[in-house]
Amino acid sequence: MNRRRSKPIQIGKVTVGGNAPIVVQSMAKTDTRDVRSTINQIKELEDCGCELVRVAVPDREAAQAIPAIKRGVSTPIIADIHFDYRLALMALEAGADGLRLNPGNISEPERVTKIVQAAKERGVPIRIGVNAGSLPKPKNPKLTIAEQMVEAALNQIKLLESLDFDLIKVSLKAFDVPTTIEAYQSIAQKIPYPLHIGVTEAGPPRTGIIRSVVGISTLLYQGIGDTIRVSLTAHPREEVIASYEILKSLNLRQRGPILVSCPSCGRAEVDIIKLAEAVEKELLKITKPLKVAVMGCVVNGPGEAKDADIGIACGKGKAILFKKGEKVRTIKEKDFISALMREVERF
Ligand code: SF4
Repeated sequence: MNRRRSKPIQIGKVTVGGNAPIVVQSMAKTDTRDVRSTINQIKELEDCGCELVRVAVPDREAAQAIPAIKRGVSTPIIADIHFDYRLALMALEAGADGLRLNPGNISEPERVTKIVQAAKERGVPIRIGVNAGSLPKPKNPKLTIAEQMVEAALNQIKLLESLDFDLIKVSLKAFDVPTTIEAYQSIAQKIPYPLHIGVTEAGPPRTGIIRSVVGISTLLYQGIGDTIRVSLTAHPREEVIASYEILKSLNLRQRGPILVSCPSCGRAEVDIIKLAEAVEKELLKITKPLKVAVMGCVVNGPGEAKDADIGIACGKGKAILFKKGEKVRTIKEKDFISALMREVERF
């Protein structure tokens, strides 16, 4: 996997692009004006490993809440701005570490210029966040949606570059996965800036994670993408957990355990589905990378469990507990989870 080399930018303490690890980000779903709830939610995201958090700034009060939110969290805060360029100026004044602008609703050169000048003074990067659902009117109506997205981004990039501003990050998100992939593939060859990738409005977790995985991992595997967001109709912690699973699956980041569990079948003599779900929940508390196996029977069980750092291979009413390929002991069914987790914590 050869990663596209992008020009790194700094968002608060987090580097995006260049050789930096692919950054996991999410968006607070609280009312930004409700400082306490927003801080609490961002802290939950930090606990799951979220590295950048965007907050909606729909009005002046939301922009004014940014300093208090920043005091309560350690993650850099990106202000999400639509329609009113003055809110971008207020968010910068309030100390936002990054801005997201949508060229579909703030494109007037004199307004964008004011924002860019204020961002430049503070060294704050701007994401040009194109969304297929809010595209500016294309000059050529024959362009595909993916082409229109690229055109919208390039037009705004040109304006920012003409103002000698290069702290740029770009996203081109659509609900349609092939459109998203085509748009990113195209722009990746045209600009040097880091790319924030994701599939927008992907839906609730069951389907949204699949759509996001298909879009995001296709791009990541082609070396495209410097920061990711999985957009789900769910608590944002689910977005962060899914993001890390994508990165772990491609060996791009390590965080927390990898759970190997068999799908179960008629040979299983324990309820392996229930057991794996319970172990998965317990493992969410662990941040160190390790491989844990929960296997249903003797067919693949001992082999997989032995290959893991910690594992159990279940039989009727009991299981063999393995650590680094060595059998530790036999455990009773009632002790499966507690014994496994004890070994995980010791490890
Ligand atoms: Fe079935 Fe055993 Fe394979 Fe699990 S490990 S799927 S129980 S054969």
